[in-house]
Amino acid sequence: MEIKIPEAVKGIIDILENNGYEAYAVGGCIRDSVMEQEPSDWDICTSSLPEETLHCLNAENIIKNGLKHGTVTVRIDGKNYEITTFRTDGEYTDHRHPESVSFVRDLREDLARRDFTMNALAYNPQRGLRDYFDGMGDIEQGIIRCVGSPDRRFGEDALRILRALRFSSVLGFSIESRTAKSIHKNAYLLKNISVERIMSEFVKILTGKNAEKVLLEYADVIAEFVPEIKAMVGFQQYNPHHVYDVWTHTVKVISEIEPTRTLRLAAFFHDMGKPKAFQRDEKGIGHFHGHPDISEKMAEKALKRLKTDNRTIAEVCRLVKLHDVRPFTAKSIRRLIAKAGMERFPELLELKRADAKAQNSDYLKDTLQYIDFLEEMYKAELSKNNDFTLKTLKINGGDLKNMGIVDGREIGYCLNQLLLKVIDGEIENDREVLFREAKKMNQNICKS
Ligand code: ATP
Ligand code: MG
Repeated sequence: MEIKIPEAVKGIIDILENNGYEAYAVGGCIRDSVMEQEPSDWDICTSSLPEETLHCLNAENIIKNGLKHGTVTVRIDGKNYEITTFRTDGEYTDHRHPESVSFVRDLREDLARRDFTMNALAYNPQRGLRDYFDGMGDIEQGIIRCVGSPDRRFGEDALRILRALRFSSVLGFSIESRTAKSIHKNAYLLKNISVERIMSEFVKILTGKNAEKVLLEYADVIAEFVPEIKAMVGFQQYNPHHVYDVWTHTVKVISEIEPTRTLRLAAFFHDMGKPKAFQRDEKGIGHFHGHPDISEKMAEKALKRLKTDNRTIAEVCRLVKLHDVRPFTAKSIRRLIAKAGMERFPELLELKRADAKAQNSDYLKDTLQYIDFLEEMYKAELSKNNDFTLKTLKINGGDLKNMGIVDGREIGYCLNQLLLKVIDGEIENDREVLFREAKKMNQNICKS
């Protein structure tokens, strides 16, 4: 089998080999190459010790900060290439990092420390592919399998549990049964992993093409870092609009919606408050009044705990809060657009569509028609260049100050009231009109 490797990688391998060492491109880049996908990065492993690697390479463009783990990083044409000495890992005591590493001269030992068979492949243009654990067979069959005993491998480094779920979601592979069993058994070890690493893998799980299957099969694993979902799993809705329990519905919304980080997170959280809001009426029908607000608060708390950036939190929370608002009049639709934000409203429509598709299909046609109607109304506002933000209001705080309103809070109140009147179509966004209206308000403020 021939694998196309970049010139820079070939150059590094040649230099090391010409100096009498072995060198291979290794890991994810070979996995992606044999699957005819573009690798995100290229790693190299070699029999040379770090100082020998340094000696072979040009002293320029070298980053040395991984040396004690055996890694020399070379920068070529703006890209970093990690060259790591064949190594075995010492004991793991924190379920994440080995206490020590030992350099070895045998490639097989290095491949044996890698997580999954598909990631334990190495390639050298002269010597071809090295595959000691049948990674190729597993790739062909679309299987994720630990190298060696799954219990031992997940016990060493619990992050591998989420890497398995991530690869399953992104590549559409299934997880081999012993490996899968061990994931369920060892999921509690995730408490040893930093939330940053967890969140980074979780987003990849959510945005993968196979997210639906992974989330349904491994809810217990996700619950290790978002325990809020435990109440959703199996929670029946007793409502004619719904055919799934809250968790299954949620997962279906996730798989229906575009795979962007914000949308998939919004789908993940949108109904989280349902178990808390649940009530049954005298006919036994389930209702969830106020669940979007509860979901929003839960989303905010969970995302903060997972150290998500503030912008993502704000965007996700806004979508969650508004996902179930169903306005009909032009005025209330404009208010919803203003709340969602002109630019972000299409995302709300996306969430609404995905939400509808994951409910009882008897109502789907009508609901989609209604969402199309919302979209038409939105497009009409867009074509009028309406923005619905204070920024585009044709009057500002300075103008109001000149009119004699000095209190900052009163200025803020006036501007917001003016904006609402514009949104509601009561007045035009025109300087003169706004001045007139502001004067009226000012008189009222003075009177009261
Ligand atoms: P991608 O780069 O597409 O996210 P990858 O498999 O290349 O996936 P990297 O983090 O780049 O992931 O790691 C490169 C290789 O190092 C892996 O393919 C695997 O062989 C090994 N590896 C990475 N993380 C671990 C781990 N936690 N345990 C064991 N081996 C690992
Ligand atoms: Mg990689």
